[in-house]
Amino acid sequence: MQIGMLGGTFDPVHLGHLRSAVEVREALGLDRLHMIPAPQPPLRDTPQVSPEQRFELLRLGISDTPSIVADDRELRREGRSYSVHTLIELRQMYGNSASLVMIIGFDAFLKLTKWHNVKQIFSLAHLVVIDRPGYNVPWPDALRELVGDREVDSADELKQCPNGKVLMLALPSMMAISATYIRERLKEGRSVRYLLPEAVEDAILRHGFYHSDE
Ligand code: ATP
Repeated sequence: MQIGMLGGTFDPVHLGHLRSAVEVREALGLDRLHMIPAPQPPLRDTPQVSPEQRFELLRLGISDTPSIVADDRELRREGRSYSVHTLIELRQMYGNSASLVMIIGFDAFLKLTKWHNVKQIFSLAHLVVIDRPGYNVPWPDALRELVGDREVDSADELKQCPNGKVLMLALPSMMAISATYIRERLKEGRSVRYLLPEAVEDAILRHGFYHSDE
């Protein structure tokens, strides 16, 4: 059994997230991929749309995509929410022999050393880092030290043990889409067509999310 977790703010979810989720699931042969929105990400400003509304947009975006699930466990949690807690829960759910993979984009990877209990992540899961256009920078020393000799070259190596390895992965369809860009465009009343699924766009426009009141 191979299980993936892709956390994020998803403020809002877009095709960069969703196409990456599909391709990473395929590349790693994951049985299931949980997309998990954070209530109040520790390293970001407060999002403008409520966590429940972001979750609803995520659900609409995923729709019936096979083996990808919108998972609201972090929104149901009391107090601060950290990825380590989520991995502990997934580990309990799938058992000790499952290969558990935490997936992050390269921009998030660059901030990894600041994460809560980051070293514990490797005792719970593998880490897969997906390339993101515009983030081709050298790794800071602290990150190099954290990863140490955990790096592997192929997805197959992640199947051979339940946790502790790091794989850098370039996906076929890298998309230079960010939620920041989408929020900016919506604020200016500009089109976001084809940057996110139509159902997500419709819901955003219907509710007036990310719209500027000025
Ligand atoms: P923002 O612009 O608000 O910072 P974002 O577009 O980076 O948002 P997040 O919700 O912060 O989206 O990202 C969740 C995860 O998905 C992160 O690990 C991030 O690196 C990754 N990700 C986001 N956009 C892409 C993309 N276009 N391609 C690959 N990975 C992405």
